Amino acid sequence: MIDAHTKLFGLIGYPVRHSLSPMMHNAAFQSARINALYLAFEILPENLKDALSGMKALGISGLNVTIPHKEACIPFLDEVYPTAKIIGAVNTIVLKEGKLIGYNTDGKGFIQALEKILRIKPRGKRFFILGAGGAARAIGFNLVKEGAKEVTFYDIARSKAENLVIDLRVHFPNAKLELATSLPSSSLKEFDCLINATPVGMRKNDPLIIEPKVFHPKLVVCDLIYNPPQTPLLKFAKSKRLKTMNGLGMLLYQGVLSWELWTGKKAPVLVMRKALEKAIARQK
Ligand code: NAP
Repeated sequence: MIDAHTKLFGLIGYPVRHSLSPMMHNAAFQSARINALYLAFEILPENLKDALSGMKALGISGLNVTIPHKEACIPFLDEVYPTAKIIGAVNTIVLKEGKLIGYNTDGKGFIQALEKILRIKPRGKRFFILGAGGAARAIGFNLVKEGAKEVTFYDIARSKAENLVIDLRVHFPNAKLELATSLPSSSLKEFDCLINATPVGMRKNDPLIIEPKVFHPKLVVCDLIYNPPQTPLLKFAKSKRLKTMNGLGMLLYQGVLSWELWTGKKAPVLVMRKALEKAIARQK
């Protein structure tokens, strides 16, 4: 029951009306019998500073942050957890003793999805990541931290991938971090896993982002996109009987980690997963 003690959580971004996070987090609060509510707030970039002051003034207990505010919110926070600082993006804010503290659960969320859904541990594996934006930064950092043997980045904006490799090398001088200056045109046989961290595949007529000849029988193919659940990349990989994973697992586990930061309790993962699946089915 919503009453005078109800704690408020939410999501800030622009746009946010497509978000599945309210369904996932509210289901978790209900199941754990926590008197809390999670709402989606559409915040224009020019209102971000006011929105975060408002969070503090109103005592909103926690927020998720999505596009386009993940990097932009950092100057308005009181503290940023070291990992989020290195990644340069925050997707979770906790209000603690009057201070706004920023975290990033995206990368760890992806790793947990990889481990729990595909039963793959990053240690010793070689990853090729398409895209070098916020999500690729978070995932790249966490893959190296977890002992990946190599992470190579490709982005159409070459400087983005270049900067990401430079930034990560500062923190992981012994890791094999590489820049691909063009899309691979032959088999990715030196790689175990291909990750699409670009928005290519979200739109109805998007092409297959990479040439068919790069796929080899042992390649694991992940797409961070969850809507549609099967992008052309995942459809093609499935047709070749490769192991695949869409972005729903990452969405779930980044949410699980945010929820645990806010509540200090173990998240009801199954409840959250079911809520997400139900919300997706409703969207179809
Ligand atoms: P972003 O910051 O915009 O990064 C995407 C990067 O990909 C940009 O640098 C973009 O370059 C580049 N790019 C676009 N088309 C490309 C192509 N054909 N080849 C290579 N690079 C290309 O976005 P993001 O926040 O990292 O998100 C990336 C994707 O992950 C989105 O689809 C997002 O929905 C998804 N995501 C999913 C989750 C989840 O929980 N499942 C969480 C976060 C993000 P330009 O900027 O020059 O276009």
